[in-house]
Amino acid sequence: MSGHRRLLVTNATLDGERVYLTALDGVITAIGPDAGSGVTQTGGHDFETLDAGGGILCPPLVNGHTHAAMTLFRGHGDDLPLMRWLTEAIWPVEAKLEDEDVYWGTRLACLEMIRSGTTGFWDMYWQPQATARAVEDAGIRTAIGPPLFDAPDKTFEERNRELEGWLDELAAFGDRVTAVVAPHAIYTVGTASLEYAVGLAAERDLPIHIHLSETEGEVTDCVAAHGMRPAAYLDSLGMLTPKTTLAHGVWLDREELELIADRGATVTTNPVANMKLAVGGVFPYPEASRAGVPMALGTDGAGSNNSLDLLADLKVFALAQRHNSVDAEVIPIEEAWAIATGQKSELIRSLGRPALPAADPLTVGAPADFVVLDPKALELSVGNLTSALVYAASGSIVKDTVVDGRILMRNREVEGHEEILTRALERAARLFA
Ligand SMILES: [Zn+2]
Repeated sequence: MSGHRRLLVTNATLDGERVYLTALDGVITAIGPDAGSGVTQTGGHDFETLDAGGGILCPPLVNGHTHAAMTLFRGHGDDLPLMRWLTEAIWPVEAKLEDEDVYWGTRLACLEMIRSGTTGFWDMYWQPQATARAVEDAGIRTAIGPPLFDAPDKTFEERNRELEGWLDELAAFGDRVTAVVAPHAIYTVGTASLEYAVGLAAERDLPIHIHLSETEGEVTDCVAAHGMRPAAYLDSLGMLTPKTTLAHGVWLDREELELIADRGATVTTNPVANMKLAVGGVFPYPEASRAGVPMALGTDGAGSNNSLDLLADLKVFALAQRHNSVDAEVIPIEEAWAIATGQKSELIRSLGRPALPAADPLTVGAPADFVVLDPKALELSVGNLTSALVYAASGSIVKDTVVDGRILMRNREVEGHEEILTRALERAARLFA
């Protein structure tokens, strides 16, 4: 029997019932009031055990868009608008990035995510192999896109060779890491490079992750340059498919949303980063929902958010939609919760991996990725649980976090916490010295 990973969760609560959960090699094998009886009768010696202490079993959150290592940039250039923030605060410091900066910045991001209930994230960042190493060491899941830019200092071929080398390296990582083709945006990547990205993704059967329609200026420039709005432009290049995710989508109009829905591409909204960078609009959720667009929620990087607490952002998302549409009924709590947990986009939920079991979370056959909520959390004490998760809770209500059948946080303690913090602080100090 050796070589298998077995997990037993005791004393957990699910739908008001006291339940057990068992998992084998990262997949849930049983869940329910009697699920643990066989294990406890035999002593359960080869099981790792998590006493949930009465805490509530809950599906984890999936962060649909971030730049994890940017935790090192938190609070840098806070008061600048998007283009000045990029060109004055971010890009000059990013030019100094080393592998170890990205590694420890990502470890810090993973620590924050584990502590706030996020077990998988869509990333776009430099030194992707350092991000992958950090994610493997942290124990969570990621879909990583090394950014594709039109670089003035490299030829088209040199740049493509570098990107393909990164994708080869990412492919060598384990099951918890997926490689993604990630052209940065239509204002930083020209038509030839976007066409190359579409071809590369098709050839390697990889997802595509791109920023789209974050500012109104991006739309006007696109119309001026190509005679069409951003989504139509991407579609003309063959980029809109069920394996494509578009970050932001603030300025998408109804026709674009219908086109995106028709192609099956996902839009990931990042309300906190949008508000902080004052992009001047709100993702048109009501129209996207009517059109049937697959959707997800993201934090964006800690440089522009500045937190990675998706539960906190979920409240902002729902509030912004209600306020913007002057309609308190515009987004039901169940819908908001489904978006934050990746249930409204198969692509986002599976982190781009078709092989990941597709069963609903917390059912037999699903990946053993879940959290246990603190039974003593005041925010959860009265009223409906989904309502509390959307409107009352923040990440601090998460007591235990399990990914792939491994316990990453137990009673809010994560292995290596102190070292991660110390090393990340050292790397940030180096970058801003
Ligand atoms: Zn972003």
